[in-house]
Amino acid sequence: MTMNPWLDQYPEEVPHSYEYPKQNVAQFLIDSATLYPQHIALDFLGKKITYSSLLKSVYRFANALHQLGVRKGDRVAIMLPNCPQGVIAYYGTLLVGGIAVMTNPLYVPREIEHQLTDSGAKIIVTLDALVERVNKAMERRPMERMIITSLKDYLPFPKNMLYPIKAKKDGMAVKVEYNERVLSFVQFLKNSTETPFEVPVDAENDLALIQYTGGTTGFAKGVMLTHMNLVSNTVQGQLWFYRTQIAKEVYLAALPFFHVFGLTVLLNQAIYNAGTLLLIPRFQIDEVLKTIHNKKPTVFPGAPTMYIAVIHHPNVSGFDLSSIQICISGAAPLPVEVQERFEKITGGKLIEGYGLTEASPVTHANNIWEKRKTGSIGIPFPDTLARVVHPETGEEMPLGEVGELIVKGPQVMKGYWNLPEETERTLRDGWLYTGDLARMDDEGFFYILDRRKDLIIAGGYNIYPREVEEVLFEHPDVEEAVVAGINDPYRGENVKAYIVLRKGSTVTEKELKSWCKERLAVYKVPKIYEFRDSLPKTLVGKVLRRKLIDEENEKLANQ
Ligand code: AMP
Repeated sequence: MTMNPWLDQYPEEVPHSYEYPKQNVAQFLIDSATLYPQHIALDFLGKKITYSSLLKSVYRFANALHQLGVRKGDRVAIMLPNCPQGVIAYYGTLLVGGIAVMTNPLYVPREIEHQLTDSGAKIIVTLDALVERVNKAMERRPMERMIITSLKDYLPFPKNMLYPIKAKKDGMAVKVEYNERVLSFVQFLKNSTETPFEVPVDAENDLALIQYTGGTTGFAKGVMLTHMNLVSNTVQGQLWFYRTQIAKEVYLAALPFFHVFGLTVLLNQAIYNAGTLLLIPRFQIDEVLKTIHNKKPTVFPGAPTMYIAVIHHPNVSGFDLSSIQICISGAAPLPVEVQERFEKITGGKLIEGYGLTEASPVTHANNIWEKRKTGSIGIPFPDTLARVVHPETGEEMPLGEVGELIVKGPQVMKGYWNLPEETERTLRDGWLYTGDLARMDDEGFFYILDRRKDLIIAGGYNIYPREVEEVLFEHPDVEEAVVAGINDPYRGENVKAYIVLRKGSTVTEKELKSWCKERLAVYKVPKIYEFRDSLPKTLVGKVLRRKLIDEENEKLANQ
């Protein structure tokens, strides 16, 4: 493996290099179930499942898939919110040598069709409430098998924890007719056996996951992640958070497992650490605060919007949040203001990390117990190298200057599924070109400025939306802010701010403008302000900046 020079400043507990086990990702579960069979693996809204019982269900699922004819390399789509059935289907698919295609339950038919057709999945595991939507998406190529779990299978999902599934339209009221093609999840497990079953995999080459990403513009690409990619990133996380205790930690599983951040940093990590996962099928702030108060999780990985929701809850002081010790924020920039307030409220540590689907996902993080820097994504993970290069020439940038971040390590993807040209463009000599603009300081800490494509160029000036957003976030009345470049015939682009104000605020555009003027060079100050009740976001809380820009361009085109 590659020695990581930045780790010289860290104690020996964080090894510079490590021999990652060449194994199936599901081996984490087998090991934890062998060592801690009676320990609680999953707590799903009060229903507790031990490691031993979880593994038995996973073996049942793997045996049943094998009987259905699923063989090594076959793709199995899993379209579920965080729930025991999703965990069982994921590890069961991996044990049979299959490739999991994690699918967002909020996808509309067009997105579902692309993902299922492109991946070539013949089997889907989903909820009864989503069957109609899948059928509609797959009119031209119906799924060979659908394994349907009912909302009532494990226990009733409380209504307010459900995904916002529109009941009638999505078939919630439709009774599923089971037949040879449409199988019930519960029967599927019942008719199978719990005999240990595992198809050997070549961990370095065989895929564990095809994870779709980048769908906000054009169609999503399938990222091919091998067993080794996921195993390495899980172990790297464990090396990084070396003081977490085996079979002691309780993980608040609010990030969805159908995004690789939730899958690696939460699910695989917690299972590797023999922790208990509190499964949250939908991030609903009141329920989340109650869960923290009652169940006392110690680890809470999340996206900035989740921490924002906590600190802005009107009755946050009414909940005991003191069990929380370790929070890792990723997926989007963490405003410094949010980090400071969250730590003050909970007493825990909230650090920022960085990653992308193509790197399973984590490449950088601050460390909870060692040196950290606010506003920075930290230093590269063990065995991970990072460089900042000129976006056009590829030359290494002088220290401190902004360029494209490129990374190399065992967690970097094998490539894009069926897209050799995209793969060649993104992976060069083993380096992954992230498309993010970054700089490094003289201690090896990295700072993300923005995505290359989000950079605003107004009147010839380069403006990083994130810098402007940080200033807006500092304003006491601003709950959320996103800044985007809007086409302008004279200046190329104009800076526009979309703002969600805190409840009851009466702050005006003029006041916000002068707040920005005091803190930013004039060319960075947003020219246009739009106040909204909420911002469009992905389920991991990334603001869909592109969507806002597209809406704006459409408006301009129609004028
Ligand atoms: P995804 O593949 O959906 O996980 O998206 C990856 C992208 O999220 C990265 O390329 C970054 O643009 C963004 N991202 C992730 N973590 C951070 C962070 N800490 N700060 C800023 N952007 C981030």
